[in-house]
Amino acid sequence: METGEGDQSSGEVIGSGLSHMLAVPVQLEDPASQRVYIEWRGLALASPPALEMVSPFTRVPIARRWMEQSEPLLKLVHPDKGTQVDYIVRWITKTSSACFALLELAQGWPGEQSAPYQTIVEVLDRDMLWTLTADEFSRALPVLQTDINIRGVWPKSESEEVFGEMADWLSPQFRAESAVKEEAREVRCFECEEPIQESFVACPYCGAARLAPPCPECGKPVTQARNKRAYYHSENGRYPWHYAWDGRCQNCGLEFAARVSLSTGHLLFFEALKGGIEETLEKLKREGRDAESLRVGESEMEIRAGESVYSMLDDWDYQPTIEVKIRRAVASNMSATSGGLSREERMVMTPEEARALIEELQGRLRILMERKKWSRDTT
Ligand SMILES: [Zn+2]
Ligand SMILES: [Zn+2]
Repeated sequence: METGEGDQSSGEVIGSGLSHMLAVPVQLEDPASQRVYIEWRGLALASPPALEMVSPFTRVPIARRWMEQSEPLLKLVHPDKGTQVDYIVRWITKTSSACFALLELAQGWPGEQSAPYQTIVEVLDRDMLWTLTADEFSRALPVLQTDINIRGVWPKSESEEVFGEMADWLSPQFRAESAVKEEAREVRCFECEEPIQESFVACPYCGAARLAPPCPECGKPVTQARNKRAYYHSENGRYPWHYAWDGRCQNCGLEFAARVSLSTGHLLFFEALKGGIEETLEKLKREGRDAESLRVGESEMEIRAGESVYSMLDDWDYQPTIEVKIRRAVASNMSATSGGLSREERMVMTPEEARALIEELQGRLRILMERKKWSRDTT
């Protein structure tokens, strides 16, 4: 897989697995009926993995579009079967009469057919593709090849011009979009996996609560989303109330982030004097401060929710994090051994790590918090 942006050389764009037919994996009718099956990108595959071809001269709807690790992706729907498949857009060529896209089956296909599996389709509009006959394919291929040879590098932004806005797949925006576009076949309990109704506020089998926590401002759940185990057409997983949450109360808009200004850190005295003594005193007067205020430093601290994503093939592990960013007015002498205060610090911890830090500093290590800032003059 290419990792850089726009670093594809023309020879790599068209692979050996090029065909005039659009392939879609053969999928299980009802994945919820079977506990064990081969899964690829959220699809429950029939065993052994096989691809079936969409007939030439057929309209193929685009169900979703997004950016995944800087590649433009399309989720296509088999027009007869209703099954879905993810394709990477590798190239788009526009002629005076048509627009052609070179598509490549998304990474990691577990079946035997040669990968990358590629095809050329005509783009009818942002929501619809058109599969080519063998003759049309033979005419489109040299047009595309010429364009590849001339341009060498394809700007991926062209996919947005053709297919519309492509949100990054890690963004809450993308997740919220996918949540409303697809309806789960069956909702199960997040904890015990027993089938439940979407309307339930708690699981009748294990008692697990399903609602988001209440907002401290308005008292309503911060989002309507509820914990669930769900099987969509194209993916399945455990979705907690915050899987597409943007960090704000959906009811009253309260943002769950803190920005704190602190008087702490190294003194500002010498930093302030860089502007000249007169100017500094003047400035302090305007701000209603005295020279004594320069004996403490200033820090801006921001605390907010983050998320770390770990992927193995098509398995995605989401870990909520606490992000702390600190900006300081003055840095100390930074050396490898002492680890002084830097101007900018970014710290990311899991909630469990953050809780351990707070508990230690409030408990056994409390004494570390009771130390004083001190100074000495050696002139
Ligand atoms: Zn349960
Ligand atoms: Zn609220």
